[in-house]
Amino acid sequence: MSSTDTSGSASATGPVRIVVAGGGTAGWMTAAAFGHFLDSGFTVTLVESEEIGTVGVGEATIPQIRMFNQALGIDEDAFIRATQATFKLAIEFVGWGAPGERYMHAFGDVGRDVGLCAFHHYWSRARRLGIAGPAGDYAINDVAAHAGRMHRGGPLTSRNIPEMPHAFHFDAGLYAAFLRQFGEARGVSRREGKIQEVRQNPLTGDITSLVLASGEEIAGDLFIDCTGFRGLLIGGTMGSGYVDWTKWLPCDRALAVPSGRVEDFTPYTRATAHDAGWQWRIPLQHRTGNGRVYCSSFISDDQAAESLLAHLDAPALADPRPIRFTTGRRAEAWRGNVIAVGLSSGFLEPLESTSIHLIQSAISRILKFLPGKDQTQAARDEYNRQFTSEMERIRDFIVLHYHVNQRPEPFWQAVRDMALPDSLSERIELFRANGHIFRHGDELFSEVGWFQVMAGQGIVPERSHALAETIDVADLKSYLETLNALYRREVERYLSHAEFIARNCAAPPLK
Ligand code: FAD
Repeated sequence: MSSTDTSGSASATGPVRIVVAGGGTAGWMTAAAFGHFLDSGFTVTLVESEEIGTVGVGEATIPQIRMFNQALGIDEDAFIRATQATFKLAIEFVGWGAPGERYMHAFGDVGRDVGLCAFHHYWSRARRLGIAGPAGDYAINDVAAHAGRMHRGGPLTSRNIPEMPHAFHFDAGLYAAFLRQFGEARGVSRREGKIQEVRQNPLTGDITSLVLASGEEIAGDLFIDCTGFRGLLIGGTMGSGYVDWTKWLPCDRALAVPSGRVEDFTPYTRATAHDAGWQWRIPLQHRTGNGRVYCSSFISDDQAAESLLAHLDAPALADPRPIRFTTGRRAEAWRGNVIAVGLSSGFLEPLESTSIHLIQSAISRILKFLPGKDQTQAARDEYNRQFTSEMERIRDFIVLHYHVNQRPEPFWQAVRDMALPDSLSERIELFRANGHIFRHGDELFSEVGWFQVMAGQGIVPERSHALAETIDVADLKSYLETLNALYRREVERYLSHAEFIARNCAAPPLK
C-alpha cells in the first residue's frame, strides 16, 4: 500500500482511500486483510475509540477461520500462543432436544462414504432398527471431543484417518491486538479517537470524511462500518434499515462473565439450554468465557444472572456484563460508499459461532468486488443479495435448534409452536419424511451439519434412501460397529487436549 493520505475530500485520482471505522474484531480483521492483500493503489486507515471500547465477546470460531489465517500467512501455533487459544473440534448441545439429552455438532464428516447415497441414510435406517448409536459415534471429531483429545494429523494417525477439522476458542481482546500488530506492520494507519461528525457529499449522499473529537478529519473513498451494534455509518448516516428476526429468534439479551481456568479444558464449546435461553462455555488457556443468552419476556435480568453464576465450572472473575441485541440483518449491508462488516451488518446469536465467520466472509466478498472510487448500483445489489442469502441460511440453521425441542418450559413451548420461515419448514419436512438433506447453493453449513443437528434434536426420518433400505441388516450393523471401534481406537493414540497444547502452543503466563 502507498503511505496513507487522508487529507482533502474526494479525489478522482490517487490511491483509493479506505477508512475502517471501528477497531473490534471486525475492524481489525478487515484492516489486517486489506493491509495484506491490497497494493499501492490503496491506503487503509482505521479509527477506533478506547473510550467506547469493543463488545468484548466473540471467542468461539468455526474451521473456516483457519483459511483466513492461512491466507494472511499467520502461523497457527503463534496465533494460538498470542491469543491464549484452545482447539475446538465441536459444539456440544446439552438439553436442547429435551432436558438431560446431549449431542455434538462436530466439524468434519459423520460416517464414511458407503455407496451412492449419503451416510445419514444408512444411519437413519439402522437407528429405526435399533442397531445404531447416536450419529456422533461415527464422527471422529465427536469421539475425540468426548475423550478430550486432540491431534492434527501426521505420524501418529492411521493411514486412512484424515486430519481432524478444527477451529479455535480465543481471547477476543488479544486477537484484535494480534491483528492490529499484523495490520500496522503492513501499512494500516491507526487513529485513536471518537468519531463526532460524519461529512457527506451533498449531491450523492456518499460519505466524504469522518471528523474526530480532536478535530482531525479523515477523508476517504470507501468506508467500512465496523462500529458494532451502533452501525454509526451504515444506519446512522446512510439510513440503511434493519430487518428484525425477533419473531424467530426471540432472545434479546446476554450476560457475559469470565471464570477461572479449568485444568482439563475441553476441545469443544458447550451450549446448555436453560429455561428461557442458553448458556455458553468457552475454555481458553488462561480462563473460561461464559455467558447466558436469554429472552427478556420470559426471565428477568436478575434471574438470568443468578442462574448464569450458579452454572459456572469455576468461580467468576468479574461481575456479569449485560449486552442487549436485536437479532436481524441490515436491509442493505452496502449502501452508498459504506459497507457494514461485523455487528453493524446484523446479529445472529452465537449458538453456532458464526459471527466471526460472517466477518471473514464479508471481507472476502469485498475483496472480490473491490470497490474503487466509482461504485455501481449493480455491484451493490449483487453484494447485498449474497449477504442476505448467507444470513438467511444461517438464521434458519439456528432457528432449527430452538424449534425442534421437547422441553417443558413456556419459552421452549413458544419457540416450538412458532411459525417457521418456509425455507426451514420445508427442510425439516424433507428430512423427517425421507431422510433427505440438500445443501442450498454455497450456504455455510453442509448436509453433515444439518444432519447432526436434526438428528441431535431428535428427528429420526421415517424412510431412508432406497439403497439404504436394501442393505443387509447384519452388514449394516457390522459396518457401524467397526467404524465406531476404529475411531475409538484411533483417538486413544492422541494426546489429551491440555497436553497437546502444552507441547505445541502453550501461551506464556500473563503478566
Ligand atoms: P465491536 O467489538 O463492538 O467494535 C466496535 C468498534 O467500533 C470499537 O472499536 C469501538 O470503539 C468503535 N466505535 C464505535 N463507535 C465509535 C465512534 N463513534 N468513534 C470511534 N470508534 C467507534 N461471534 C463468534 O464468532 N463467536 C462467538 O462465540 C460469539 N459470541 C458472542 C456473544 C455475544 C453475547 C455477542 C453479543 C456476540 C458474540 N459474537 C460471537 C459476535 C462477535 O462478538 C462479533 O462479531 C465481533 O466481536 C465483532 O464485533 P464488532 O467488531 O463488529 O463490534
